[in-house]
Amino acid sequence: MKALDELTFDNRFARLGDAFSTHVLPEPLDAPRLVAASTAAMALLDLDPAVTETPVFAELFGGHKLWAEAEPRAMVYSGHQFGGYTPQLGDGRGLLLAEVYNAAGEHWDLHLKGAGQTPYSRMGDGRAVLRSSIREFLASEALHALGIPSSRALCVIGSDTPVWREKQERGAMVLRMAPSHIRFGHFEYFYYTKKPEQQALLAEHVLNLHYPECREQPEPYLAMFREIVERNAELIAKWQAYGFCHGVMNTDNMSILGITFDFGPFAFLDDFDAHFICNHSDHEGRYSFSNQVPIGQWNLSALAQALTPFISVDALKEALGLYLPLYQANYLDLMRRRLGLTTAEEDDQKLVERLLKLMQNSAVDYTLFFRRLGNESAALAVAKLRDDFVDMAGFDAWAELYKARVERDGDSSEEQRRERMHAVNPLYILRNYLAQNAITAAESGDYSEVRRLHEVLSKPFEEQPGMEQYAQRPPDWGKHLEISCSS
Ligand code: AMP
Ligand code: MG
Repeated sequence: MKALDELTFDNRFARLGDAFSTHVLPEPLDAPRLVAASTAAMALLDLDPAVTETPVFAELFGGHKLWAEAEPRAMVYSGHQFGGYTPQLGDGRGLLLAEVYNAAGEHWDLHLKGAGQTPYSRMGDGRAVLRSSIREFLASEALHALGIPSSRALCVIGSDTPVWREKQERGAMVLRMAPSHIRFGHFEYFYYTKKPEQQALLAEHVLNLHYPECREQPEPYLAMFREIVERNAELIAKWQAYGFCHGVMNTDNMSILGITFDFGPFAFLDDFDAHFICNHSDHEGRYSFSNQVPIGQWNLSALAQALTPFISVDALKEALGLYLPLYQANYLDLMRRRLGLTTAEEDDQKLVERLLKLMQNSAVDYTLFFRRLGNESAALAVAKLRDDFVDMAGFDAWAELYKARVERDGDSSEEQRRERMHAVNPLYILRNYLAQNAITAAESGDYSEVRRLHEVLSKPFEEQPGMEQYAQRPPDWGKHLEISCSS
């Protein structure tokens, strides 16, 4: 276990030089204080959980202090935002503070979000407000606990620093961690600004550090792109299977590692709704829940375009062609498991689609349905669940197919079925209204709810005594909370 001054640094991205990032110091927050910290994320750095109790913790992650070995940099990138190309973006309010490695030799970027203005801030103030910082903290750790690849969050630091959004709020910082903060948009930036040397350096950097196994392939860059396609197909299959809506799938928010990245107006579905749009600035629904699947491919095509200096167009097209079949296979595999099935049949896709349509029409809670389906035998479970459906006859017809399918799946005791299904069907997810309750308390200085919610969500599959209130459908006020980009 390490103290905060015992980390081992290796700032590889900073060494790429000034064409890639700019040295900027964090702007300290007034009266920084710990809102919440993740011991699981701290463990990734071998940090002793007791370090949160030292005053230097909030000073470090509130922008007051820096390690001597840190090299804070604002990264430059660009990207396609809502389908249109924005030639220059970059870390407008976040800094890559340093890169550290742990005892197992794993590398982690430490990125401080809300750290003040940078050359890429455009008209922005460089700040993040408390509510969005809490949301990012909770979501990163909750997704990880669900088994969905994501950037991680070490802590949230609150402050007295005034920040103006629609009203006056308080500034905060999140310490984000990921093996890399390189986005699709990094490649696009060097491609569209016609800087082939830097682009080659970037590609080598990503290949060597993050896809070293592709070096062994006859065409390493193509192998790397294929791997990126595969990881995105797997990631988005998980989002769809678990009802996660990212909200702003611009190419500057897509990680080159295929992890969930850059949280804004995200949401987990309460009621199943394929057309759900979580970002109320997304008028066209470009990033609606079901559109995430084709948008994943669109984003990969944008990356492919930026990789044309390294890979032939035919090979890129072929690799892109892997996305949809892989997505479908992964998604179906997850949904089979959510239904408690252990074998595959031709018509399983239809069984899933039919169920989702029924859930959509009756606004059935997506998470609780699957959890309750696993509570007992298929016959008993569907008999109880039918009350949630308006079209009961429709549900009954589905239930007959399901029961027959479970029968064909093979013998398993009720006990085995419950265990298997509860291991993949969470009881607790980060519902918008739960996040809102925690935020409201935190805005008046009480951080206990953020911490409790974080704790509950760290074991989403385990029933936790006394925590029933976190496994409920939203109350009326919490059903249609509007979440905007202004965070
Ligand atoms: P996002 O929608 O959070 O992914 O941000 C899109 C771009 O706007 C990124 O380049 C951000 O760094 C930048 N940005 C967002 N909010 C701010 C802010 N408050 N101040 C400066 N830049 C910002
Ligand atoms: Mg972003």
